[in-house]
Amino acid sequence: MTIRPIVITGDPVLHSRASEVTAFDQELRSLVADMFETMDAAPGVGLAAPQVGVPLRVFVYDYDDDEGNPRRGVVINPTLQLGPISQEAPDEDTEVEGCLSFPGERFPLKRAENVVLTGLDLDQKPVRFEADGWFARIFQHEFDHLDGLLYVDRLAEPYKSEAKEQIAEIGWGKPGFSWLPGRDDLEG
Ligand code: ZN
Repeated sequence: MTIRPIVITGDPVLHSRASEVTAFDQELRSLVADMFETMDAAPGVGLAAPQVGVPLRVFVYDYDDDEGNPRRGVVINPTLQLGPISQEAPDEDTEVEGCLSFPGERFPLKRAENVVLTGLDLDQKPVRFEADGWFARIFQHEFDHLDGLLYVDRLAEPYKSEAKEQIAEIGWGKPGFSWLPGRDDLEG
């Protein structure tokens, strides 16, 4: 297994729709093993394949759900059904999100409280989750990655402008930026 570099906002792979997985082969297994190792090293609670530069509809997650049950797995070719999203302003303490492809920053964002996620595992066996709270948020965040969306693309003002300023200040927003968990000292 290998820790792979995580690409940063501006790279086209993060801003394009990823393709369905059609080959459930050894290459896919290696990718998923590397994604788990990369997520753990980051550390993060989720990682989508485009974040390691691979435009496929795959993500991994590792999170204890709101009932305290440890959840760790991979979902391939997912579908996501969203519950209602409140139109209220997001809470700046409890609804703050971060992204390994926008490292070092966190912004508040409203998400659906409940989702239903379906997809396949590595053996092409169907999986289905009814998730709520943070577990639901992680699924929405990772699913967005597969459609070429970062959570910062969904921010409301004033956070949207703050994120844009941040990108301009650091010089991101164009291809070629990445960081390597375990070597580069970044958080996100
Ligand atoms: Zn992310």
